[in-house]
Amino acid sequence: SSSSNPPLSSLQQCQSSDYSNTSYELANATFVMLIRNSDLDGTISSIRALEDRFNSKFGYPYVLLNNEPFTDEFKRRVSVLIRSEVQFGLIPKEHWSQPDWIDEENAAKARKQMVATNVKYGGSVSYRNMCRFNSGFFYRHELLQKYKWYWRVEPNVKFYCDINDDPFRYMEENQKVYGFTITVYEISATIRSLWSTVTDFIENHPEYIATDNAMGFISDNNGKTYNRCHFWSNFEIADMDFWRGEAYTAFFEHLDSKGGFYYERWGDAPVHSIAAALFLRRDQVHFFAEIGYQHDDWGHCPLPDDMWEKGRCSCSQKGSFDYDPSSCKPRWDKFMNSQ
Ligand code: GDP
Ligand code: MN
Repeated sequence: SSSSNPPLSSLQQCQSSDYSNTSYELANATFVMLIRNSDLDGTISSIRALEDRFNSKFGYPYVLLNNEPFTDEFKRRVSVLIRSEVQFGLIPKEHWSQPDWIDEENAAKARKQMVATNVKYGGSVSYRNMCRFNSGFFYRHELLQKYKWYWRVEPNVKFYCDINDDPFRYMEENQKVYGFTITVYEISATIRSLWSTVTDFIENHPEYIATDNAMGFISDNNGKTYNRCHFWSNFEIADMDFWRGEAYTAFFEHLDSKGGFYYERWGDAPVHSIAAALFLRRDQVHFFAEIGYQHDDWGHCPLPDDMWEKGRCSCSQKGSFDYDPSSCKPRWDKFMNSQ
């Protein structure tokens, strides 16, 4: 189920663009939003901010995905905000359900225990479906097949600064694969056996481990244990061909086969992050310093004054999460400055 607006004509694009005297070539890229019909207000708010701060000048398309059909009202209220193409997609059941071979009794026991110990979303099966979908399936959706780059956007996020330079083109021109704005520690209780599962994979597939990878960012003892640092995946600008490639495909299948998305509550953030840290060179991972961004309680505000001024940012630099005790950004800096 999909419908779409006509794409921006090149004329419209020129009139509305900073690139009025040049022909600007967009990257092969799209925004991706996974949302429920009940997320309408938050979706409008995120899109409105993104259009104002960035996309009204560029005209990148959107793909909105849902495990239930979007209502006509939802499509109407969203489409009116966007002059570029918008497509609404339905997620196939096979990409959004607990596999039959998962032992439901064990899975239910784990959920119950996580509820008892107040683990966020600990009792939710739909949250687990969401994490598994974002880990291993979104980039296989038919509406995303023609795209290489994506920017993941959630409902109710904020974009604080003008984004004058095209992040997709930046990624492309600088051989980047994965881009982030915030990095944090994962909740231990959700990933009890994730690292041992990763370690098994590494032992069986040393050929996938990149030279000059970022293991030193996610492990303080050369891979013995995971320090729980991960890129916060509610914001991602990345190359879907990385997820579609041989290394990640084998990695996801290995993780999925252990059932940890349901027996525990593995998140797509640590799964993506560990893969990026191991299968990419560290210089293929990019921190978007200039993108002011807020998700729930934590946000990133550009710290260099010239950057903050150029972006006409509406955030306080003092409130930026970067050097909060819960942030992994100090570790990232230290790692990137090391040999
Ligand atoms: P958090 O960021 O980890 O707190 O989780 P969220 O509740 O924000 O969910 C992450 C993303 O998945 C958001 O884009 C949600 O809109 C989306 N999402 C979560 N659960 C569902 C669901 O059951 N159906 C759909 N269609 N989207 C969901
Ligand atoms: Mn969220």
